[in-house]
Amino acid sequence: MIGILGGGQLGRMLSLAASRLGMRTHIFCPDPTSPAFEVTPHKTVAAYDDEAALAAFADAVDVITYEFENVPAATAEFLASRKPLRPGANALAISQDRLAEKAFLQARNIPVAPYHPVESLAQLQAATDALGLPAVLKTTRLGYDGKGQRVIRERGEAAAAFAALSPKPLVLEAFVPFEKEISVVVARNVSGEVKSFDPAENVHRDHILFTSTVPADIPPALEKHAGMIAKAIVIALDYVGVLGVEFFVVPGESRPNLLVNEIAPRVHNSGHWTEAVCLTDQFEQHIRAVLGWPLGDPARMADVVMQNLIGDEVVAIPAELGGETQPHLYGKTEIRPGRKMGHINKIRRQS
Ligand code: AMP
Repeated sequence: MIGILGGGQLGRMLSLAASRLGMRTHIFCPDPTSPAFEVTPHKTVAAYDDEAALAAFADAVDVITYEFENVPAATAEFLASRKPLRPGANALAISQDRLAEKAFLQARNIPVAPYHPVESLAQLQAATDALGLPAVLKTTRLGYDGKGQRVIRERGEAAAAFAALSPKPLVLEAFVPFEKEISVVVARNVSGEVKSFDPAENVHRDHILFTSTVPADIPPALEKHAGMIAKAIVIALDYVGVLGVEFFVVPGESRPNLLVNEIAPRVHNSGHWTEAVCLTDQFEQHIRAVLGWPLGDPARMADVVMQNLIGDEVVAIPAELGGETQPHLYGKTEIRPGRKMGHINKIRRQS
C-alpha cells in the first residue's frame, strides 16, 4: 500500500500506474472532490496538520510519497518518523523555498539566473540597481503557474510589486532573455540507480504550461548537458523518486547555455508525454523508485507533442481526437478558467 499526499491529477496518475503494478494506493487530501479519489477506494479526507488522521494514514500504508511540493514541513517530518517518506523531507524543504533552492544549486556549480533576496523595499531598490531592469520579483514560497511573481520593467513599478506579493521574503531575479524553455524528468531509486527522460521543449500560455514537444529543438550536446545537471541534482539530494528540472536555454558565446529555473520533487506536467511514447512512463518510474524496485527503461519510441487542456478546452476534445492522439482527462467535476482539466499526447510515428 502506497500512501500519496495530494489528490490532484498527478496523484491520480500515480495511483493508476501503481495499480498496474499490482499495488494499492491510499490518497490523503483535504479536498473531498479530489480527482485522485475516483481511482482508488482507500482515502483520507483531512487537513495536512491533522495528526490523528496522519498517524492513521501512516499506519495504513507501507511507504509514503506526494504529488505536490508544498507539503508542510511538519507534516513531512511527522510522517517520515513513522514510514519511509520518498522523496525525503530534505528535497521538500529545498524545493519549497526558491532561495534555498538557488543556494543549493549554486553550491554545486549549477548555474541559475542572478538573484538577490528581498525582505524590504530598500533591499528591492538595491537589488534592482544591482541586477538592472527588467527583473522578475517572486515569492520564495507557494508560487505556481506564474502566481506569486511580477515583472518589474521600471523603477517606479517596484513599490507596487513589493506590496502585491506575499508571503515575504521575496527574491528578485534578473530577467532571463531565454531562447526557449526545456525540462528534464529524472528518476533515482533506493539503490542509487539514475535514469532520465529526453528533454522536452516547453511553451507556456498565460504562465501555464501549454505544450511539451519531444525531441526538443536543441543541439545534442545541450541535451546531454541537461541530463547531466538533472542527474547531479538527484544525486546531491540523495533523492528517491521522479524529479522535474526546468531550464532556460540562453544564448552563449559559441553555443547556448543552460540555467536552472526551478526543480519540482514530483512527477511533472512536462513529463506527461512519456505516457504515450516511452517504455516506462514517469508515473511508473516514480512508483518503481519509491517501492525500491529497479528503474524502468525511459527510452522514447516516437516523437510527441503533449498539449494541456485548460478550462473548457476539454469539452471539445472527444470530437477532435484523431487515431494518433492519446487523450488523458482528469475527471474533474468542475471546469474553471485556468484549471488543468486533461492533456493530449499527439504521437508522431517514427518511420
Ligand atoms: P516559475 O514559476 O519560476 O517557473 O516561472 C514561470 C515562468 O515565468 C517561467 O517558465 C518563465 O516563462 C517565466 N520566468 C520566470 N522567471 C523568469 C526570469 N527570471 N526571466 C524570464 N522569464 C522568467
